[in-house]
Amino acid sequence: MFNLLENLVYKNKDYGKEGKLASYIPALLKADPNDLGVAIVKLDGTEYFAGECDKTFTIQSISKVVGLILAIDDNGKEVVFDKVNVEPTDAGFNSIVNLEVKDTKRPYNPMINAGAILTTSLIKGETEEEKVGKLITFMKKATNNPNISINEEVYVSEKLTGDRNRALAYFMKSNGILNGNIEEILDLYFRQCSIEANAKDLARLGAVLANDGIIPWSGEKLIEKDTCRIVKTIMTTCGMYDASGKFAVRIGVPSKSGVGGGILSSVPKRMGIGVYGPALDEQGNSIAGIKLLQDLSKELDLSIF
Ligand code: GLN
Repeated sequence: MFNLLENLVYKNKDYGKEGKLASYIPALLKADPNDLGVAIVKLDGTEYFAGECDKTFTIQSISKVVGLILAIDDNGKEVVFDKVNVEPTDAGFNSIVNLEVKDTKRPYNPMINAGAILTTSLIKGETEEEKVGKLITFMKKATNNPNISINEEVYVSEKLTGDRNRALAYFMKSNGILNGNIEEILDLYFRQCSIEANAKDLARLGAVLANDGIIPWSGEKLIEKDTCRIVKTIMTTCGMYDASGKFAVRIGVPSKSGVGGGILSSVPKRMGIGVYGPALDEQGNSIAGIKLLQDLSKELDLSIF
């Protein structure tokens, strides 16, 4: 398995040259577009990896998965999906257009920015610090990494330039969909996007999801089985934004990307996969990462379909 992963990193590394780093969050331009790494964690706890799998990056939209899990945990699925829909969209991850045209004005799904700002607003806690603490504690457990923390530089960079997200949030407020202190909600959203992890951490989180919420290496239950099912379904239909259909046909594994270059994948009952490759395609997904996953899915027959 180590050999296979080494070969796939070597084979797909150059695709990074065809992509671009996310520049709308200036701090993300510090990444090396030629990096590529992959890690696999099987449900017996064995780990395999190759390439840049120890390098940390901000998880960005992959945090939408964590926000959704905590929102369901705190409120129940009925409350959450009363406010955010579960339908894929062909508009980009930060698009505002659907918030106006649909009668219900609900964001299409929790894997795009509007939907995630909404689910993040549903995480319960007395203070913002308490809510951040819940996100970090969850991530530490799910990744078996006590060092998980927020990248302050990326957080500040995104907060300074996050006007599109501000627009989405205030638009939802004006529609009566998003309630509460909007600046605080946005701050929490920017902070969750700036959580740092590496490909191995993502693979462990993917393994927890693949194992129906039971942490493979400790046996502890972290997520309700039904929540895992819902989250993996939404990852499949919406996790790669407006490239989710193509991704499902080509790779067929519940996955979630982020503009930091990470991809979290979870093969039900089999393994978690974490990929890092910061050069992105037009949809904002890791360009080399997708190519690598395509090969890996074929080699190991991973498609769930
Ligand atoms: N923090 C990013 C944003 O809100 C996350 C987007 C992404 O990873 N696609 O724009």
